[in-house]
Amino acid sequence: MIYLDNNATTQPDPPVVAAMTECLTANYGNPSSTHRFGQEARQAVEQARYQVAQLLNCTPRELVFTSGGTEADNAAILGILATRPDAKTIVTSAVEHSAVRQPLEALAKRGYQIVTVGVDTLGRLEMGALELVLGDPAIALVSIMWANNETGVIFDSAAIGALTRRYKVPLHVDGVQAAGKLPIDLLGIHKDIDLLSISGHKFHGPKGVGALFVRRGVNWSPLLRGGPQERDRRGGTENVAGIVGMGKAAELARVELAAGGGGSRGRITALRDRLERGILERVADSQVIGDPGQRVDNTTNIAFAALEAEAILLLLSERELCASAGAACSSGSLEPSAVLRAMHLPERIAHGAIRFSLSHNTTESEIDQALEIIPAVIARLRQVLPVG
Ligand code: PLP
Repeated sequence: MIYLDNNATTQPDPPVVAAMTECLTANYGNPSSTHRFGQEARQAVEQARYQVAQLLNCTPRELVFTSGGTEADNAAILGILATRPDAKTIVTSAVEHSAVRQPLEALAKRGYQIVTVGVDTLGRLEMGALELVLGDPAIALVSIMWANNETGVIFDSAAIGALTRRYKVPLHVDGVQAAGKLPIDLLGIHKDIDLLSISGHKFHGPKGVGALFVRRGVNWSPLLRGGPQERDRRGGTENVAGIVGMGKAAELARVELAAGGGGSRGRITALRDRLERGILERVADSQVIGDPGQRVDNTTNIAFAALEAEAILLLLSERELCASAGAACSSGSLEPSAVLRAMHLPERIAHGAIRFSLSHNTTESEIDQALEIIPAVIARLRQVLPVG
C-alpha cells in the first residue's frame, strides 16, 4: 500500500506505540488517585504536557488536553463566547475545517453574526478584508486556521495575530495541520495567538487526543465540566495513554523540526516536489491547487481537469494508493468542497482535485510507484469518460 493521505491521519511512530503500551499495561493508574500508582500516571500526563509545550514553545500550564482537534476547536470557540455575552460577531475564514465551520453555523442559528473573510484563487487569505472587518466593536472572537487541510496553504498566523492584538480581539487558531509541520513559537513570534488547537494523530501520535492552548490571562470558560481534571478546565478522567502518546509524538516532531531542511522535513519536501513535478509532466491538463510558495511541506493538491475526484480515488484505491479529495458525494451530485468553492476554481478543475499528503514514512520507491500508477489511472479514466 502507498499511503499518501497523511493529512487525514498519520501512522503512530513506534516509540509512540511503545509509550502508550507501557501506559495501557503497567502504568494504568488514574491520575486523580492519591496513591503512588495513580501519581505515576499523573507524572506521565505532566511529562506529556511538558513535551507538547516544548513543541509549541508555551508553558505547560497553558495546555488543556482534549479528545482531539474537534473538541479543542469547539472548546476554544464556545469557551470565549461564554465569557463575552454581549459580543455577538465572530470572524472566520471561508476555508475552515468543519470542526470550526459547523459550530459557527450552529451559532449563526442562535443569533450570532458570522463574518467570513475570503481567499483568492490561490487559497491565500484576504488580509485587507480581515483588517477592514476588525473595527467592529461587537466582535467576540476571530477564528482562523493556520494550515489548510485540503491545499496545505499556510496563513500568516503571526501577522493575523498582530492585527487582532491591535484591535484587541481574541484570536483562536486551528493549528491541527500546522503542529509538527511548521515551527510554532507561542512565546515568541506567535505571541498574539490567544488559543491554539492541535491534534495528536496528525503528527504520528494517536487518534482521539488533542490539546487546546489557552494563553495565560485569556478569559475563557471550560466546555466540559464534571471533575477537577486539567485544573478544572476539562472534566473527565484523562486519556492517559493517548496523552502520553501525543507527548512522545510531540517530542519526536520537535526534534524533526529542529533538524530543519537537512533532516526528514527536507526529504518530505523533496519527495512531495518530485511527485508534483512528475504528475504535471506526465499528465496533460493537470494543475496544482493552492499557492505553491506558501504550503506545508507534505501536501500537494492536484486537479485533473474534466474528471471526477471520486472516480480517480476509486481506481487509485484499487491500485493500493491512498489519497483523498475535497469533493464529497451528496444526494447523487458531486459538490466540490467548501475550500475549493471558496477559491472560485472553475467547476471542471475543482471536481477533479486530489490531495496527496506525505509523511516521514513516505519512501522514494513509493513516489516512483505513484508516478506510474497516477498517470495510468488518469489515462484510463480519460479514455472511458467523455471530456467535459
Ligand atoms: N482542524 C483541521 C484543520 C483538521 O484537518 C482536522 C482533522 O482533519 C480537525 C480540525 C479535526 O481534528 P480531529 O480529527 O482530531 O478531531
